[in-house]
Amino acid sequence: MNFGKLQLNDEVKKRISSAVDSGTLSHAILLTGGTEKERKELSVLLSQALLCENHEKPCLKCDTCKKIKSGNHPDIILTEGEAGKQKSIKIDTIRSIRSRAFIVPNEAPYQIFIILEASGMGEEAQNALLKILEEPPATARFILASRSRDDFRQTILSRVTPFAISEDSGRAAGEKENTKASKAAEEIFSALMTKNEARILLGSAALEKDKKTFKACIEKMILMLRNSIIAKYKDEENITLTENKFSAKFTEKEIINMMGILKELLSDADKNANDNLLVTRLTIGLMSCIESDRS
Ligand SMILES: [Zn+2]
Repeated sequence: MNFGKLQLNDEVKKRISSAVDSGTLSHAILLTGGTEKERKELSVLLSQALLCENHEKPCLKCDTCKKIKSGNHPDIILTEGEAGKQKSIKIDTIRSIRSRAFIVPNEAPYQIFIILEASGMGEEAQNALLKILEEPPATARFILASRSRDDFRQTILSRVTPFAISEDSGRAAGEKENTKASKAAEEIFSALMTKNEARILLGSAALEKDKKTFKACIEKMILMLRNSIIAKYKDEENITLTENKFSAKFTEKEIINMMGILKELLSDADKNANDNLLVTRLTIGLMSCIESDRS
């Protein structure tokens, strides 16, 4: 397989090449990771490799390769969603792909349906696509591209052969969020133990204007509170040092009240309450749980 100017890691190249060269490329491929541009370029290259008239595929010189490159091949059907914007790919678009897939190709051995930024499919659109992926006509091939595997339902994933262009950028972003959330949770916990209101506000500053991380942080704290209660009764290995300290510092009632505040905030965050206000409420709410007669 000729990758032209596209830079990919050797392992991915090897996997794709061996599938293309042996003619065993599956009828449905999922490209993830990399940039939007890289995913698009690879979809075009793969389509060329599938339909190229020459031996060294894709030659990038034959009529077919050129037509595909210029977007003028009648058997390449391109659909483009908007990254992360669910329903930017309409269910009707997927339905028309489904009916078109049963039509005989114009000039190539098969039609190739490329769906870029396929995260634009909502649940209904994914279900509609699933039907054709499950029983595809012999003359249809599918190339889906998206930031992350996490953009798809498990049923779709089980029908496609995945190729990760590089590190799964969606996952990487998710992990980054998680680290940020855990860090903030730790910071808020130690600030609570010193009853330092200003430090709680500071610790939660990272959560402002980032509702996903805010929610991840609250969920993390609820878990930590639960462990702090358990620590009062049992010596468990998976309880962290912070949780043990927290458990020693506060009464069960205080911790339970804190959990109540956090659960309420979590449900309000889902209702799209104002982000900045949520962070303030977090600070005031947690502080109010600490009984005043304690030193
Ligand atoms: Zn060619």
